[in-house]
Amino acid sequence: MQSKAGKYAAAGFLAVVLLIVIFVFKSFMGDSPAEAATRDRLFMCAETEKSFRYKLEKGVTIPVPSPYSGKETGYPAELCYWTKDGQTKTDPTPVLLNSYKHVPGPTFCPDCGRLVVGHNPSPDPDSKPPPTREEYEARKAAQEQLRDQQE
Ligand SMILES: [Zn+2]
Repeated sequence: MQSKAGKYAAAGFLAVVLLIVIFVFKSFMGDSPAEAATRDRLFMCAETEKSFRYKLEKGVTIPVPSPYSGKETGYPAELCYWTKDGQTKTDPTPVLLNSYKHVPGPTFCPDCGRLVVGHNPSPDPDSKPPPTREEYEARKAAQEQLRDQQE
């Protein structure tokens, strides 16, 4: 065991073990949380309006295949963090935008009834709740009235 060859063999064996440990550890850890967040996104099936997680990989086009319809009807979900009474919540509601469903007009959250837009912002402590359908339509009517008066 005290021979030079024996020492080299032991060193080589240790290096191999170390490489295997690193490899196993890396594959066990998977992606970093930041990487996973950008790739594993929440989608909604336009046909069934159910949400599912889908890993966005390079070369993937939208719509993505939906596990509910079995067809390419998966669109990125917007997240609504509001409640009916204008409070924020930590467990957001996934919302499918009307534009993805080829429905005209703005999208309102099925849970709280508030306006949802593309890249819907998550609320800050001082942000105001988005308008409900009634508020939105009242505001639009007021704007139209103002425009009529100016003409
Ligand atoms: Zn909502």
